[in-house]
Amino acid sequence: MLFYSTNKHSPKVNFKDATIQGLAPDGGVYFPERIPVFSSPFINKIEQLSNFEIAFTVISPYINKIIPDHDLHQIINETINFDFPLVRINEDVCSLELFHGPTLAFKDVGARFMSRCLGFFRKDESRKVTVLVATSGDTGGAVADGFYNVEGVDVVILYPSGKVSKIQELQLTTHGRNINAIEIKGTFDDCQHLVKQAFNDIDLNEKLFLTSANSINIARWLPQQFYYLFAYKQWKNKGQLPVISVPSGNFGNVCAGILAHLSGLPIRRFIASCNSNNVVPCYMDTGNFISKPSIITLSNAMDVGNPSNFVRILELFNNQYILLKEVLSSFSFNDHQTKEAIKLLYRDYHYLADPHGAVGYLGLQKYLSSHPGSKGVFLETAHPIKFPNVVEEVTGQKLKIPVLINKLFELESKKTTMDVNYNDFKNYLTSLK
Ligand SMILES: *Cc1c(COP(=O)(O)O)cnc(C)c1O
Repeated sequence: MLFYSTNKHSPKVNFKDATIQGLAPDGGVYFPERIPVFSSPFINKIEQLSNFEIAFTVISPYINKIIPDHDLHQIINETINFDFPLVRINEDVCSLELFHGPTLAFKDVGARFMSRCLGFFRKDESRKVTVLVATSGDTGGAVADGFYNVEGVDVVILYPSGKVSKIQELQLTTHGRNINAIEIKGTFDDCQHLVKQAFNDIDLNEKLFLTSANSINIARWLPQQFYYLFAYKQWKNKGQLPVISVPSGNFGNVCAGILAHLSGLPIRRFIASCNSNNVVPCYMDTGNFISKPSIITLSNAMDVGNPSNFVRILELFNNQYILLKEVLSSFSFNDHQTKEAIKLLYRDYHYLADPHGAVGYLGLQKYLSSHPGSKGVFLETAHPIKFPNVVEEVTGQKLKIPVLINKLFELESKKTTMDVNYNDFKNYLTSLK
């Protein structure tokens, strides 16, 4: 299996090179040259399979033995060594909880998978690898945790000052060792722009072996398909296909779901649920894609004004808007609606949702209410404790702090603070030991 660049001006590469490069040299994102097909016994007997067997079946066509099966087994085992429960909310709605990993956010799976792949590929390289990542919230923590102590890999994380929660910041700044955190006095888009400039800087790329850990990296993107198969495995009423609502920011997760669907996973429809950053909902309404500066919201990991994975969604449908509309709907909700959803989920169902999951719930609810008889799943992508202020304010409940999080407050926090200035950033990178 080879991967081509969505800009079509770079050579095709295998899984290894696509993972190491992150972004293609022509600035496009990598995309598989064909979409694997799941066998019908695999789908029909999915309840009898372990999560490990499911994950291996899904991912191995993309790896195509570039990682020997024995090593891939180990990578998968370490990637999904926690639960992905489908929790019943009411008659029509379930929550797929993706926050049971080490950083309590769904990005753990992609980050763990990618870090271990890169650790494996690094074995035949002499140069050190520097992983650059811009985060609007949870990516950084998952990447920091996933890469912590991976031999020969340095990680540099950029995050927007004052725009991530206290716990998120601790998850970025308390690892130390090969994990470096930079607080940028700007927005997430500024962080992302600095990272893009670094990748386009020929001089810098001669000095350092740079790669990205953002959701554009195929080794982060592809394993997100697992969630949708895990959801389907636990979905009881197979006669009625689930609608799946995905809280979306950079659109990697929902795009992975659609990829699994095009490989043969039975799903009725996908809903990309957005906060006030509504570029894609507008696109779905009008057919015009117009990026906008990001807006700060309660669901900060989805504050993205120009979602970098959207091009992959278009690619999945050969840029045919009509075909895309058959599979995907997209809605936008503001912070007030998000709070109301958190309140209602707690009041009516005793379910504690975080702001991202709440947006997912709203999108699902909106679709179900206009399609009577349909049922579905929303993805709950972060643990509510990561957003204690709003969840406690709205539900009136004091949240219990998980042990994992409590420990963070005892650790030393280290970061570098920087203006939005490419030269400063470059100097920082070249001076990393
Ligand atoms: C990253 C993130 C999202 C958005 O996922 P995308 O793949 O970027 O669309 C949603 N919720 C949480 C908690 C996240 O961290």
